[in-house]
Amino acid sequence: MSHPVPMPVLFVAHGTPMNAITENRFRPLWHQWGEALLPRKPKAILAVSAHFYTRGTHVTAMEKPPTIHDFHGFPQELFDVQYPAPGSPALAQRVAQLLAPTPVGQDKDSWGLDHGTWSVLMHLFPRADIPVVQLSMDGTQPPEYHYQLARRLRPLRDEDVLVVASGNVVHNLRTLNRSETSPPADWCVRFDAAVRAMLEKGDHAGLIHYEALGEDARLSVPSPDHYLPLLYAIALQGEGEKVSFPVTGTHLHSLSMLSCQIG
Ligand code: ZN
Repeated sequence: MSHPVPMPVLFVAHGTPMNAITENRFRPLWHQWGEALLPRKPKAILAVSAHFYTRGTHVTAMEKPPTIHDFHGFPQELFDVQYPAPGSPALAQRVAQLLAPTPVGQDKDSWGLDHGTWSVLMHLFPRADIPVVQLSMDGTQPPEYHYQLARRLRPLRDEDVLVVASGNVVHNLRTLNRSETSPPADWCVRFDAAVRAMLEKGDHAGLIHYEALGEDARLSVPSPDHYLPLLYAIALQGEGEKVSFPVTGTHLHSLSMLSCQIG
């Protein structure tokens, strides 16, 4: 039996991996967000993480995806985190079917759940009992391509699959300031506000062509990997469908934590 309303779609800002294990203002918000979603428990999650950025398009297709600690120079406690959610080879196949004729590699042994996915899912869905598949982004392709590709995934929303895109609207590590009290860069605040305004208006063209925002965009999105997951989320938005912002604000001078739910 299908639900009359499509499953929501999330874009979650993950920020520094330390957010997974430190006390911070994001964690309680992620917990609340997950609890608000759970009355309609997803059958599976399709995660689009900034950190699964590949040549071509791939999905994790293993029964038990490993937790990947894809970072360096962090405390052992972070390397000890496990997010033992099962995989879903069936969803991996379904994604390949929907994205055809674009070839989708069925990855059985090279990737798993990276920190873009587990650092937020471990707080949204701490029971780790919903199967998770990760979809990679083809790093050789421009923003418009990602948006058009993601549109083909719309039927998943009617199949009780929750799409969780994980990145950061502003993600400049070169200008990061590790002090929690560091005020945000002016360009970070402006770009974050511009993106939020476009999300509120449903201005997909503006979000795809974010580079038109010039210097603010260049500094906020020095490489596209953390911005592009947002395009996967908006591509699944229905006409006039509402957007809400369960997490907002900036962090460590040049990270935006702006997160949204569609539907
Ligand atoms: Zn990241």
